Amino acid sequence: MSQERTLSIIKPDGVQKNVIGECLRRFEQAGLKIAGVRMLQLSKNQAEEFYAVHRGRPFYESLVTYMTSGPVVASVLVGDNAVLKNREIMGATDPKKAAPGTIRRDLADSIEANVVHGSDSVENAKIEIRFFFPEL
Ligand code: ATP
Ligand code: MG
Repeated sequence: MSQERTLSIIKPDGVQKNVIGECLRRFEQAGLKIAGVRMLQLSKNQAEEFYAVHRGRPFYESLVTYMTSGPVVASVLVGDNAVLKNREIMGATDPKKAAPGTIRRDLADSIEANVVHGSDSVENAKIEIRFFFPEL
């Protein structure tokens, strides 16, 4: 087992729905440690940069509008296989396809408003953690 760090974001719909605590509880219950947490509202530039890999996709503009629509809660999660573990806790991108018991299946409304983000690799986790927590 390798100790990893990953970045989680509780997206604007999650904050709006009062499920910050519920999401953090699920991370902790699964054995992940919260090493940093910060609430902030992304600027358009920040959201565009964060989701730059999706630039040009049909949902990109809408995704940026949604991600800047309210505050988000970014956190650094640490633990064995944290990247994959967090992705398992989140469930599939589309809540309709997410497994029962996952955050997205239980709490999300749509493929866009899907409550949480999680880094998809150790490499991207490093970049994303630096983006929100330059001091960590
Ligand atoms: P995230 O990167 O947010 O953790 P993900 O890795 O499961 O989610 P990606 O394919 O990276 O999914 O898409 C990034 C985000 O863009 C999704 O979480 C969702 O908010 C939005 N998105 C993805 N696909 C679609 C789509 N087909 N229509 C609308 N929004 C989408
Ligand atoms: Mg992704």
